[in-house]
Parts: sequence; C-alpha cells; structure tokens
Amino acid sequence: MQSKMKALVKDKIGAGAAIMLMEIPKLGPHDVLVKVICTAICGTDLHIYKWNKWAASRIKPPVVMGHEMSGNIVKTGSAVRNWYEGDYVTMECHKTCGQCYQCKTGRGHICSDYSILGVDCNGCFAEYVRVPESNLWAIDQQIPPEIACLQDPVGNAVLATTSADISGKNVMVTGCGAIGLFAVGVARVLGAAKIYAVDVIDYRLNIAEQMGSTRTINPLKLNPVEEVLLNTGGDGVDVVVEMSGNKQCLHYGLKTVKNGGHIALLGLPEEKICLDLTNEVIFKGVTLAGITGREIFATWYKTSALLKNILDIRHVITHQMKLEQFRDAFRIIQSGQCGKIILYP
Ligand SMILES: [Zn+2]
Ligand SMILES: [Zn+2]
Repeated sequence: MQSKMKALVKDKIGAGAAIMLMEIPKLGPHDVLVKVICTAICGTDLHIYKWNKWAASRIKPPVVMGHEMSGNIVKTGSAVRNWYEGDYVTMECHKTCGQCYQCKTGRGHICSDYSILGVDCNGCFAEYVRVPESNLWAIDQQIPPEIACLQDPVGNAVLATTSADISGKNVMVTGCGAIGLFAVGVARVLGAAKIYAVDVIDYRLNIAEQMGSTRTINPLKLNPVEEVLLNTGGDGVDVVVEMSGNKQCLHYGLKTVKNGGHIALLGLPEEKICLDLTNEVIFKGVTLAGITGREIFATWYKTSALLKNILDIRHVITHQMKLEQFRDAFRIIQSGQCGKIILYP
C-alpha cells in the first residue's frame, strides 16, 4: 500500500481548506482503516470551511475534514475481533467517552465528553480514514455507497422526526436543507397525515415535494402560520420539526403547533432566542425537545431498516463531484441551490 494519501484539510485558521498529501493513519489496537468510497458535505463542514464563531472556538488546524462516509475496511488493529478486511461500512462520527452517566445508561449520543471525527480529530474527506471499531456500522450490500454515506444525517432526521408519534398526525418541517428534506421523507413513510415543508429557497421546496410533502410554503411569498391554520381548519399541526435554526421559523412553529403539541429542535440558532414561554409554551402545554446526533445504535438500526425497505432519499442527492472540486461544492452549498453533495476522494 502507498504511504501517503490525498485529503481535504482545514490547514489553517480562517476561511478555506486545502487538498494535501498526508501520511495514511497508523492504527491503534482497536482501530480499523477504511478506504473511503464516497463522502458527503454537512452543514458542520461548511461552518469549518467558512470559519464561523463556533469553528474558531473548536477547531485546531490542521485537521482532515468530513464525517459522513461509506467505504471498505482495508486493515484492522491488532485487538479488533469482529471486523474484517473488505467489510462494507459507514461510521457514527461521535466518539463517546464510555464512562459518563449518559454513556453508562445507554444514552451515549448525549455523552458529556465526546469528540467528533472531522472536527476534533482527522475525518473522512480523504482516501483513507481511521475509525475506532466501536464507531463502525455495517452496511447492507443492497444499499449503494452514495446512500450509505448519508446514514449519519438521515439518522439525525429519524431521531428528530420520531421523537413524537407522527402517524396520522399533521407535521410541519421548517428548514429544508438536507436533514429537513430527509425528515419530510421519514414523516411520509412513517405515516404522517399532512406534511407542511417551509423554506425560503424554492429549489429545496421542489425536492421537499418529491420527498412527499403535502404542501410547501415559502415564507417570502406566503405567511406559513396563516397557510397552515387555514389548511388545518384552524387547528394547526401536532408536530413541528425545526431544522433551520432560524428564529422566525421557531416562532412559526410555536404559533402553528396545537395545544399539547411537540416541537423537535435540531437546527442550531447562531444567537440566543427570546421566547414568550408563558403564552407560547406553558399555557399551550407544548413540549420542546432538543435533538442532537443519533441514538447509538438504536437510531442506526431504524435508519438502516428504513433505507433498505421504504425510504428513498435519492432526490436529495443533487450533486456528485470529485474531492478536488471542494471549492465549487462549498460555493454551491452557500447558494442554497442544492440538496446533498457527494464527494469522491
Ligand atoms: Zn453531518
Ligand atoms: Zn460519555
């Protein structure tokens, strides 16, 4: 095997990234080396690329970017027993501590001391990635690599959308980036009655329609609160899945959710948000649920079963490019005229 590999690296403080030749990672006893088939760009990668406030506080360059991938194991560490060369895998990107209260009680996705591949240590925008064996997830051969590499973000959507009972219920998804689009698909196949998809970009609303939304609403053209209330006989929706992190969207959700309804919050606001807790939450008996990551590995089982049998996410993959075209890819993401972008190292 060659000793160097191509990788997309956050090479220095500030905006941008660079393709570099790096040493192929050495393995610890419980690691495996995966030859990456494809990777996908996530909102997190864009934050790191653009170097926003969060990235500046967290990232210590140089670090290989990327945490969504599919590939084959090419080498296993000396203590690895249950994984073999050739295994077709993807990975959970959160490395949990295994020692805290949450980890010890089976809730590792909210571990109090976790790190993330592609954020805190080298990730998968490269020809090879080192993965701890406990982070591996075996992929069914039926699932193509372009879909398999998306199990991490689809898992976010599955966890958020199934945080309340949605079958036969009216659902509103605010924010139709990739995870919002996946959420529309999940709500559709799990039997939501009506699905309202809200976004300011028509390109994404078109994909939301293909993923099964009943109605799409662009707040730049129509008031989502009025539209949803009109369409539901004044009742509003049972469940809101907030994927945008936009303050206005949260207020749309609070105003359209029924009394006793449920709001799953996954989108990350850049600033603090002021709520009228008395009238918008407490007197309405609304539940606000913070959603992060995926249950390890309960959500993975569910996500795999959905992808294998009933959930078709191909409409969300809008671009497929070479790793070297990363600048074009990040430019397209910033324009909002895309679903998910797949990169081939
Ligand atoms: Zn991601
Ligand atoms: Zn922990």
